Amino acid sequence: MSNTNIDWQQIHRDAMVVDMHAHPSLKVSLFNRILTARLQASRSFDPFSIHTDFNSLKKGGVDLLLSAAYAPEHGILQECKYIKALKYLMPRKWKKVYGRPYFDVAMEMLDIMENAVSAAVDDESGEPIATMITSVTELEAFLQQEKDRPIGIIHNMEGAHCLEGKIDNLDKFFQRGVAYMTLAHFYANEAVHPCFPYPESVQKVGCFKGDRNLVLGLTTFGEEVIEKMIELGMILDITHCTPMARCRIYDIVGQRAPIIASHVGAYAVNPNPYNLRNEEIKKISDSGGVTAVIFMNYWLMPHATNRGLNFISRTIEHFIHAGGIDHVAIGTDFDGFTDRPDDLPNAAELPRLTQRLIADGYSVPHIRKILGENVLRVLKQGWKKKI
Ligand SMILES: [Zn+2]
Repeated sequence: MSNTNIDWQQIHRDAMVVDMHAHPSLKVSLFNRILTARLQASRSFDPFSIHTDFNSLKKGGVDLLLSAAYAPEHGILQECKYIKALKYLMPRKWKKVYGRPYFDVAMEMLDIMENAVSAAVDDESGEPIATMITSVTELEAFLQQEKDRPIGIIHNMEGAHCLEGKIDNLDKFFQRGVAYMTLAHFYANEAVHPCFPYPESVQKVGCFKGDRNLVLGLTTFGEEVIEKMIELGMILDITHCTPMARCRIYDIVGQRAPIIASHVGAYAVNPNPYNLRNEEIKKISDSGGVTAVIFMNYWLMPHATNRGLNFISRTIEHFIHAGGIDHVAIGTDFDGFTDRPDDLPNAAELPRLTQRLIADGYSVPHIRKILGENVLRVLKQGWKKKI
């Protein structure tokens, strides 16, 4: 038995680890969380705690994080009385988040992340803890550096509502360094219709009672947005879109640009329209893109258990079965108010995934692809921002 002493921690450390989708800026903006605070993240559901602070990312060996900027949608206010109460409890914060155009809030989310990154300096050495990467040229320079480099942060945008129906706004986000945009989110926007986004448990407490019409799809503006994204070289994320919209996107884009699903599960494992069917996973592969597994129990599994790592493993296996080893990735959605797996609740615990993948029988080169190399390929191919 030559492989009884596999140094899984070393394998994890040596790999490029990329989280395709997480929301640290949301916690900074809503709850004034500081990304350099050395707090032990809570394991239980605690909406105020943070799971992708720089300390946890470092501990978890994360090299690169694609940080989602999200302007909270106004529909949330109509559908949840608790959030509506914020208007009276935190009037200034409410006005900042809900009292202004989506585009302005989204731009400010980018500022918030950039400010958090520039403020993150090691107390002792004075060296930066994190660094913004706003173009492919910067990404390539980053990859040339030694492993003890700062954590790389790349912007992405969640929900085309932030465009406010104006195609020119896409260009403004692109110039700021937004590498990909998720077209849909919780509510219908000018471009596309979404799937139902919440666990039933959230509905039980009297929030988000509304339904979503799954046979609605992409709008004419949505088609225009897609063409503009391909022209610019901003990567297109189909997560949250209705199955109808997704099918149309695969048809329109074909193999002209890599399509991604940045935080999803597999329909074959958990049959929910949010999750992708085998033929969709294959279409994403054919486009040169990746399908990234979400670390959220609700989408991963068809029955209630908090042992999410089993389902992360099963979903990865399925993505590979349907789309191939070169087209799978991870997109945790940490800090997006998700129900996190008990056995992999924050970025600091990510080495446990590598441990599990070894136990599942994957080779080291395959593990490295899953953990980050596939995403790097997609970024180099699909993100056309040079400077
Ligand atoms: Zn999302």
